[in-house]
Amino acid sequence: MKKEAIFALQELLATPKKIVIIPHRSPDGDAMGSTLALYHFLQKEHHTATVISPNDFPNFLAWLPGSDKVLIYENNKEVTSNIILEADLIFTLDFNALHRTGEMEQVLTKVTAPMVMIDHHQKPDTFATYTYSDTAYGSTCEMIYNFIGFLSKTDVIDTTIATCIYTGIATDSGSFRFPSTTSTTHRVVADLIDRGINNSEIHNQLFDNNSYNRLQLLGRALQNMKVFPEYKTSYITLSQKELDEFHYEKGDTEGVVNYGLTIKGILFAAIFIEHKDEKIIKISFRSQGSFDVNQFARDHFNGGGHINAAGGKSYESLQDTVKKFENLLTKITI
Ligand code: 5GP
Ligand code: MN
Repeated sequence: MKKEAIFALQELLATPKKIVIIPHRSPDGDAMGSTLALYHFLQKEHHTATVISPNDFPNFLAWLPGSDKVLIYENNKEVTSNIILEADLIFTLDFNALHRTGEMEQVLTKVTAPMVMIDHHQKPDTFATYTYSDTAYGSTCEMIYNFIGFLSKTDVIDTTIATCIYTGIATDSGSFRFPSTTSTTHRVVADLIDRGINNSEIHNQLFDNNSYNRLQLLGRALQNMKVFPEYKTSYITLSQKELDEFHYEKGDTEGVVNYGLTIKGILFAAIFIEHKDEKIIKISFRSQGSFDVNQFARDHFNGGGHINAAGGKSYESLQDTVKKFENLLTKITI
């Protein structure tokens, strides 16, 4: 982050402010972890902070400290819009373009207060007054740790803030597996452990809270997997009917796409999930090595993300979307 931006923010934050913190739509562990970490930090610094999520967050994150205080834009558009428009300062975390907030974008484009973007996605838009964007980081949470450091406030990080930061680092790094996990990441985590987090318990909360239905849905997803060794690719589909059969709840398909990459020789994996209510096929892409799924998602499926993890959507049927994908496989080199 630029020195001038840090000075400006230090000055802004020197007196109590009304601050709104916003994650992307369908927030994941990093989006929720970073917004709540910043929320607890700002509250401790005597500001009035409010986290407003565009839509509801998945159940597997409901244990996060402060998640009960998060307001959901979709559930109360009038009240949340007013809070946003009356804020002195707005943080947008873990996304690079306002459309990632869905319909909430309409409100955010009307904001006159300064905005601060903290994010690790490629090609950040220029809507924010102050931008801290760096794709070298594996998570926005690691950047929040740095940001608090830029303000010379690392000592304010208590167990609660550290727990939120750890959650995003752990989830966005695939539990410290992805290449973006650096020695610095581990040093940050070491400091978080020194600040009292129960890292093992956080993993239990995140990953050992499956419902029977979720595992059955995972079983179906794995059975639906198609493998194309010649293209080093595999993909999974889940239809709305299948989601209904296993009483799908938000978050149930989180991480399922990664199973495709665990097959020997597979470097590109996708999952196509039919969401009839939103009239879209939600797509996740993952790769190992140099195949850029961010570019692939941008070029063909209205999406984006990072080199090895990206998402997108299709407005065609599940069948047609998959057909398009299979067709594209013959035209790319992985
Ligand atoms: P996931 O597949 O877990 O939903 O997303 C993987 C990564 O790609 C995440 O960092 C997520 O923020 C990003 N991503 C997912 N969907 C989209 C999208 O539609 N547009 C953009 N720009 N990024 C996305
Ligand atoms: Mn993230």
